Amino acid sequence: MATERTLSIIKPDGTQRNLTGKINARFEDAGLRIVAQKRIWMSRKQAEGFYAVHAARPFFGELCDFMCSGPVVVQVLEGEGAIAKNREVMGATDPKKAAPGTIRADFALSIGENTVHGSDAPETAANEIAYFFAQTEIVG
Ligand code: ATP
Ligand code: MG
Repeated sequence: MATERTLSIIKPDGTQRNLTGKINARFEDAGLRIVAQKRIWMSRKQAEGFYAVHAARPFFGELCDFMCSGPVVVQVLEGEGAIAKNREVMGATDPKKAAPGTIRADFALSIGENTVHGSDAPETAANEIAYFFAQTEIVG
């Protein structure tokens, strides 16, 4: 399998509970390398742009409010099959359905406040990485 990069976000419920280190350890233990990382506080506009694909969904407003309610850690993870591997480590969107031992099963508070984001395909990963990072900020 090819080396890939994926965008990860530790969401406000994760940073608020001081879980950044614990979550990063899950990624590193799974063989994912954190090749870029920064802590930011997204504006409403930035959150709306990031989640534009979900604009028609009923939870869009709530999702954007949440994502700009506190700091997040945006990061680029690199590794063999990184996109799928990260989604495996994260677990299902709804923590009630997430497999035991996944980040969302262990830490998520609800389907909305579900602690982490991970890109879902190569095209979205490339777009999402470029949304937050300049090439010069990614050091593999
Ligand atoms: P993410 O994109 O954050 O990695 P995902 O791909 O598992 O998660 P999506 O379907 O892309 O899930 O939804 C994006 C985000 O929107 C979810 O992570 C969650 O925070 C929120 N969300 C999804 N479904 C619901 C829902 N039914 N109610 C409230 N929030 C939701
Ligand atoms: Mg998604």
